[in-house]
Amino acid sequence: AAVRDFDVRAAALPGGRVLVTAEDLTVRRRSEQTRRDFTANVSHELKTPVGAIQLLAETIADNPDDPEMIAHFAPKLRREAERLSVLIQDLIDLSRFQDPEALSTPVLVDIDEVVAVALARQETVAQSSGIELAGPRTPTGAQVWGNRDMLVTAVRNLLDNAVRYSDRGTRVSIGISVEDDLVNISVVDSGIGIPPADQDRIFERFYRVDPARSRNTGGTGLGLSIVKHVASDHGGTVTVWSRPGRGSTFTLVLPQAGEGDAAWSAARADG
Ligand code: ADP
Repeated sequence: AAVRDFDVRAAALPGGRVLVTAEDLTVRRRSEQTRRDFTANVSHELKTPVGAIQLLAETIADNPDDPEMIAHFAPKLRREAERLSVLIQDLIDLSRFQDPEALSTPVLVDIDEVVAVALARQETVAQSSGIELAGPRTPTGAQVWGNRDMLVTAVRNLLDNAVRYSDRGTRVSIGISVEDDLVNISVVDSGIGIPPADQDRIFERFYRVDPARSRNTGGTGLGLSIVKHVASDHGGTVTVWSRPGRGSTFTLVLPQAGEGDAAWSAARADG
C-alpha cells in the first residue's frame, strides 16, 4: 500500500472529550497536482494559436503591398483564430458540465431528437471531409432524464471525432438501441482506430494518440473528456471498441427514463 500523509487535528470538547479529525493529504495533493497540470496544459494550448496569430498578423502588416503574400497568410490566420475559438468553447463546455449544478433540474429528453440535431449540426463538416453520415433508420422513442444541450454536445463530439479520424469516401453511422433499461447511442467509423494501450487514456483531458493529426483536424484534446462528464452526470458511461486500421465504435450508455429512474437517482446520489 502507498504511504499516506494525514493532517490530524484534535480539539477539546466539553466534558473532557476530544474530537480528532484526520484529512488524507495524499488525496488533497493529488487533486492540487491535477489542477496545476490542467492549468499548465490550457496555457500551452492557448499559447500555440495565439503565437501563430501574432506572427501571421505581423507578416501581413509588414507586407501591405504584396497581395500574393496576404492571400497566402490570411486563410492561415483565419484557421488559427477558428482553432482558438473551438478551444475556448470546449473549455466553456468542460467547466459548465463539471458544475454539480449542471443537472439540478433534469427534464425528459428525447434521444431520437438529440441524435437528429447532432447529425444535422455535423452534416456540413462531414460533407466537406467527404464522409457519408448515416443516421438511425427508425425512431426508438427512447427517453432519458437529463439535459438536452449536454447530450447534444456529447453526441456531436463523438460524431466530430469519427469524421476527423476517418478517410474520405468512408461512412460514419450512428445507431440507438434500448436494452435492459439502458439506452445505447453508438457512433461507428471505419477510420484509423486506436491502439489498445491508448484506449483507456483517450478520455483524459488533452490526451491524444497522435497530437499532430488531432491539431491538423481542429482537435482540442478535450472532446472525449467532455463526453465522459456528460455520461457520468447522467448516471451513464462511455465505452470504446477499436481496432487500429479498422475503425472505432464509441457507445454512450444512459439509464432509460421510466424504469431507469431508480438507477438514475442512485447514480446521482453516489456522485
Ligand atoms: P481531439 O480533439 O484530439 O480529437 P478527444 O478528446 O476528442 O480530442 O480525443 C482524444 C484522442 O482520442 C484523439 O486525439 C484521438 O487520438 C483519439 N480518438 C478519439 N476519437 C477517435 C476516433 N473515432 N478514431 C480514432 N481515434 C480517435
